[in-house]
Amino acid sequence: MAYPRLEIFLDKIRHNSRRLTEICNEFNIEVVGVNKVSCGSKEIAQAMLDGGVQIIADSRIENLEMIQEIKATKMLLRLPMISKALKVVELADISLNSEIKTIRALSEAAESLNKIHKIILMVDVGDLREGIFNEKEIMEVVEETIKLEGVQLIGLGTNLSCFGGVIPSDKNLNKLVNLKTKIKEKFGITLDILSGGNSSSMSLIQQKNMPKEINQLRLGTSIILGTVEINNTRIDNTYIDAFRLVTEIVEVKEKPSKPIGKIGKDAFGKKPYFEDRGIIKRAICAIGKQDIDIDWMWPEEKEISILGGSSDHLIVDITDSLKEYDVGDEISFTLDYVAALNAMTSPYVHKVYK
Ligand SMILES: *Cc1c(COP(=O)(O)O)cnc(C)c1O
Repeated sequence: MAYPRLEIFLDKIRHNSRRLTEICNEFNIEVVGVNKVSCGSKEIAQAMLDGGVQIIADSRIENLEMIQEIKATKMLLRLPMISKALKVVELADISLNSEIKTIRALSEAAESLNKIHKIILMVDVGDLREGIFNEKEIMEVVEETIKLEGVQLIGLGTNLSCFGGVIPSDKNLNKLVNLKTKIKEKFGITLDILSGGNSSSMSLIQQKNMPKEINQLRLGTSIILGTVEINNTRIDNTYIDAFRLVTEIVEVKEKPSKPIGKIGKDAFGKKPYFEDRGIIKRAICAIGKQDIDIDWMWPEEKEISILGGSSDHLIVDITDSLKEYDVGDEISFTLDYVAALNAMTSPYVHKVYK
């Protein structure tokens, strides 16, 4: 067996996808399965589709290229780079946009390929990441977009709780609803899609506060982990452990809990603090911050805990463990979203599909 390895339980991802789509479809909301955590894994994209998600999305065009042969409607989440307009039209059916210059380039690229590329116009309702902020500009962009031959404006979208940490509410999502009405009055077109955000917007479904006109959500974290992180809840009957990291121990020793000598900075420029708990038993696992974010993972065995790490070492307190760990043994971890993303990205971590 290769170490470190990331075991990916496709049946759990399929199950979580099914749960989330069931919940959303009940509110007439279609689910876009966001696959960006997997760095373009075909297996995970397919598991989401088998679980019922209606569209597959990624923020990077390179990842959409990796899943090119998967049959599904595909969406590009990050605003397209204008220099990649042709690739975007080639590989994605839908993209999220906020710049008329880019939309023009997409239209031209689509025409050259004899395609119609679908556009969701991003509206910034307050989180201040991507999206058009003022209404006058929205109306101008809509007016020009609907005249372009290579693109079709299918809806409005927004993104929340990313840059600004703004919580989704019926108030901020109703801005999309009102804009849809104004666009209909002014231009006589009915937009099909109101894309109401990411996993954080699941909180509005939980509170039964979702405006009924919102008919699409783009879900990554809630499918992968079954959690709604914004309110620290779990969606019942979902798995949190679809990703499991298995590492190999390279040292087991008893050492003082507090380093000896004057403490300056650690390998990452921070001044660490250590409580003196006497002699403890520790293991070093062969993985490090080059591969994972050690703040976003936890050991499967409840009696052990992470003490810290550097680029290539992870130090674990095994004093209270029920097992007798030895060099060459395994220690396994459950990963949160960030650690899963890092582990998927690291070429040093072997990926094993279960
Ligand atoms: C990443 C992303 C999502 C999915 O976010 P989760 O919180 O993981 O559900 C949705 N929309 C956009 C635009 C994104 O970049």
